[in-house]
Amino acid sequence: MTLTNWAGNYTYQAPEIHHPRTVEELQEVVARSSRIRALGTRHSFTDIADSHGALVVLDGLEAAPLIDEEARTVTVTGGTRYGTLAQHLHPAGWAVHNLASLPHISVAGAIATATHGSGDRSANLSTAVAALEIVGPDGSLRTVRRGDDDFAGSVVGLGVLGVTTKVTLDIEPTYDVAQEVHLDLPWTTALEHLDEVTGSADSVSLFTDWTGDTIAQVWRKSRVTETYRTRPDFFGTTPADGPRHPLPGIDPVNCTAQLGEPGPWHDRLPHFRMDFTPSNGDELQSEFLVPRAHAVAALEAMRSLGDQIAPLLQITEIRTIAGDDLWLSTAQGGDRVGLHFTWQPRQGEVEALLETIESVLAPFNARPHWGKLFLNRGCRLAHLYPRWDDFGELAARVDPDRVFGNDWVQRHVL
Ligand SMILES: Cc1cc2nc3c(=O)[nH]c(=O)nc-3n(C[C@H](O)[C@H](O)[C@H](O)COP(=O)(O)OP(=O)(O)OC[C@H]3O[C@@H](n4cnc5c(N)ncnc54)[C@H](O)[C@@H]3O)c2cc1C
Repeated sequence: MTLTNWAGNYTYQAPEIHHPRTVEELQEVVARSSRIRALGTRHSFTDIADSHGALVVLDGLEAAPLIDEEARTVTVTGGTRYGTLAQHLHPAGWAVHNLASLPHISVAGAIATATHGSGDRSANLSTAVAALEIVGPDGSLRTVRRGDDDFAGSVVGLGVLGVTTKVTLDIEPTYDVAQEVHLDLPWTTALEHLDEVTGSADSVSLFTDWTGDTIAQVWRKSRVTETYRTRPDFFGTTPADGPRHPLPGIDPVNCTAQLGEPGPWHDRLPHFRMDFTPSNGDELQSEFLVPRAHAVAALEAMRSLGDQIAPLLQITEIRTIAGDDLWLSTAQGGDRVGLHFTWQPRQGEVEALLETIESVLAPFNARPHWGKLFLNRGCRLAHLYPRWDDFGELAARVDPDRVFGNDWVQRHVL
């Protein structure tokens, strides 16, 4: 049976796929494998999760999330999707700090690649991790907790450090969010007032095709507190008069509620609804995370490529991510702006353009999103991560025979 990723642009080559039903079974499978990788919900756009040996999918291990109210944490099995987690957390009065654009992604897969939402004060999803339970190459279980020496290196682990069976995440009391969409933000205003625009709500996304004088849509998601007010007069934009899809002309029926109508965090923070589950997508994605200090220059540089980008693009989303200290997090060391590209499914042409985009963004120390398409010609990544060598040493210590290695890891990391 051929198994492809969500986008359908990659077919996994691993000759075996296991779906263990218990952790003990998983431990046995790992212990007897010379090469093995965990596969999440297949939302990455490359061979990052593949293996020359076996793949292991944790869908048979799923158990209900376990909330610890005193510790303010929830523990989930690695294969649990954020949408499923939300369905348990919210009725119990709890929430996580942020979500990605889609709720269908697995927790372990998301944190392994530093998946993020948006928000000046909101760090990526990996930063909510308080502890991980991991099966090592000999099948033994180890737990890494916040505060342990290996913790900051283990969270964004790219699947290299073992199979994550359980993740403990920080939680907070549940909250409501209201989402507003504003149309046609002038580029000059956006560049002049970028900090005010991105700081105007808890999560802000700018959608553009890089051409013209305006940014087509600004999606603002605000926690609903006593001081929350809608912003009909937002920097000269027009408030959307009905729900919008980020792509022009597409029916917004699958998008989460807008128009400032308050609702639970998990029904507003993702752009797309949980009950809409696309099994695959006719798109490719790339994203580059640029230090905040370079944000305006990087945006201007991308605008200057607008005529080359637009013909291959479905839409760009510009987001902000608060900095953190996880070694391989794309926001390690300081706040970032994410320049995301949803491409037409024309991989050859997209990759040719990525040559240009990556070289134009290189002076801004842009880090590529681990789960999306990038080239990394010239192996530039090592100098972008101060703890790169420490990660290599950690990987060599926990997996000296590279049981969890693969071609992608060899190309880009170890
Ligand atoms: C439609 C769409 C929307 C997206 N939206 C966003 C977004 O808003 N923000 C963002 O930052 N990214 C986004 N992404 C990217 C996505 O979040 C990442 O690619 C993420 O890694 C996908 O998780 P997954 O479970 O599908 O992992 P996979 O793609 O299956 O695997 C990714 C990596 O995680 C590892 N892994 C998976 N499970 C485990 C485990 N149990 N133990 C150890 N390692 C494991 C794999 O080995 C691999 O290295 C989006 C992708 C798509 C397709």
